Amino acid sequence: MNILVLNSGSSSLKYQFFRWPNPQPVGSGLVERIGANTDASLTHKVFNSANPAAPPVERRDSLPLPDHETALHEVVRLLTEPPGGIIQNPDEIAVVGHRVVHGGETFAATTFINEEVKAAIRRLFALAPLHNPANLRGIEVAERLFPQARQVAVFDTAFHQTLPEYAFRYALPTALYAEQRIRKYGFHGTSHQYVAAQAAEYLQNSDARLITIHLGNGCSMAAVRAGRSLDTSMGFGPLSGLVMGTRSGDVDPSVLLHLLGPLGYSAGQVSTLLNQESGMLGLSGANDMRDISRALAAGDARAQLAYEIYAYRIRQYIGAYAAVLGGLDAIVFTAGVGENDALVRRLVCREMSFFGLELDEELNEQRESGLRDLSGVGARARVLVIPTNEELAIARQCAELLG
Ligand code: ADP
Repeated sequence: MNILVLNSGSSSLKYQFFRWPNPQPVGSGLVERIGANTDASLTHKVFNSANPAAPPVERRDSLPLPDHETALHEVVRLLTEPPGGIIQNPDEIAVVGHRVVHGGETFAATTFINEEVKAAIRRLFALAPLHNPANLRGIEVAERLFPQARQVAVFDTAFHQTLPEYAFRYALPTALYAEQRIRKYGFHGTSHQYVAAQAAEYLQNSDARLITIHLGNGCSMAAVRAGRSLDTSMGFGPLSGLVMGTRSGDVDPSVLLHLLGPLGYSAGQVSTLLNQESGMLGLSGANDMRDISRALAAGDARAQLAYEIYAYRIRQYIGAYAAVLGGLDAIVFTAGVGENDALVRRLVCREMSFFGLELDEELNEQRESGLRDLSGVGARARVLVIPTNEELAIARQCAELLG
């Protein structure tokens, strides 16, 4: 079964093509700067199915792509045309799996897309104004280009719909929840669910109490027990919780009132500040951990403090979530920073023996792929690194839905 996984952003389109049940993608790519004044850039990779370790054949193009429709047309051309064509005809695609950021309270699971589902995604525009419109655009274009395929939506929020009400409600007047749906939703659900499932399998414990720590450009944590999310650090939007590349994470709302009042910021300026100018960028002057770690090695005091704050926040949430879970079987690091940055892991696991966490410093420094158990001698709770793979998780959910 051919599955195309699409992640449609406001000016980008990411895709992976699977020949299910093979979990290795056959092709993948990224289109950026769709609809910009300059040319869009397109990278398309075709993998060697006989030898997944071999480097993929890569094609790069720069061309004008005014909208998602022309961008997806171009992707179809690359998928179907020699050299490197993977299929002969778009009709060979059985399923298109779409990543949709916000499913609100309507979607607690992966679902086939019909008119009703699209209307629901549209109703959620107000809650995810940057993402849901772009996701819906991707769906509508895919429906036109692949009329034979089943279209499936996989929601970033769905996994966290199991949060109990006392965890997802804010202590605001009830009407704001009842009428405006203001509550914690949480994001990165596909990633938390995927690594939690891998961890439970590794531990051979279907009831495992896990804290999953997704550290990419965006960062979030989840408390997961028996495969169910019990709490998560992002909330109504993706700003709360951990320190991120450019987002602030938790800030006392009084600060925002102070900015909006005495300091005269507009709502738009506060949004830009919190989303694009804060986090590691605001603290250290750079948002990519690789740059910050180089600055740290060169003795930059701001980089040092930024790392400390980043790790401290994660440690606070580990404490909170161990309490939520009533104990701890493992913590799981994932995504770009979690999988690669040994210093972050070392700072986070420092003096955590009282939770049973012991980090093996040597294993922590080694660079290896796949699931890694970094636990030291005497550990009662494991420290795991599990590479996330949201596209694979989406493909798997599509396959499961089709039965
Ligand atoms: P996204 O949230 O966009 O999916 P990723 O999971 O790809 O992001 O993570 C991107 C971030 O991972 C980069 O901004 C960078 O800070 C970090 N990163 C990637 N590789 C490394 C590395 N080798 N060492 C430290 N950090 C890394």
